Amino acid sequence: MGVSASAFPNVTVIDHPLVRVKLTAIRAAEASLGDFRRNLCELATLVTFEVTRTVGVVGKRIKTPLAEMEGSALAKPIIIAPILRAGLGMLEGMLKILPEAGVAHIGLFRNEETRLPERYYFKAPPNLAEAEVIVADPMLATGGSAVAAIDHLRDAGARSIRYVCLVSCPVGIERLAQAHPEVPIFTAAIDPELDHRAYIVPGLGDAGDRFFGTV
Ligand code: URA
Repeated sequence: MGVSASAFPNVTVIDHPLVRVKLTAIRAAEASLGDFRRNLCELATLVTFEVTRTVGVVGKRIKTPLAEMEGSALAKPIIIAPILRAGLGMLEGMLKILPEAGVAHIGLFRNEETRLPERYYFKAPPNLAEAEVIVADPMLATGGSAVAAIDHLRDAGARSIRYVCLVSCPVGIERLAQAHPEVPIFTAAIDPELDHRAYIVPGLGDAGDRFFGTV
């Protein structure tokens, strides 16, 4: 049912079997709050493995109990930038394998008159310019929040940005790719369409409501 990734050159679809199985689990309407949270958290960990595949490493000289050797260290600090509220659902899973990452919180709400995303909160670590920044939001729907979040990060000095979501759709991908063609997009699935309320179909519903139990 998904859309082929080959239509979108800057998109990586993370279709590892475990990702597909866990994504199916959170898509299911009957998933309990606990199952939804656990699977979303585990998915966030799994996709982070792929999102960070191309980050640079430098040599790091260490001593094992037996000998000296050349190991590896990340070349740059990493900052995770969850878009509030739903992006917070991915944070714990991402920090599991990036425990030293900084966190930039970006709070956006949709102004119902202008229909544009407005910022109500932004707090980022001071080293944005030197860091690899990973923007996280489970759903890439219209692309409005993704574009706005990346605009704010750029204004604050971020230079190298990646975007990760779990479910996306062509409209959101195209909008983000047009506004920020330099930002690679990682997603676990590309669903076909948006409905009249801008929900992704088949999607998984409102990710924030389902993660926080506010359905
Ligand atoms: N945000 C969500 O949580 N779900 C959608 O389907 C679209 C936007």
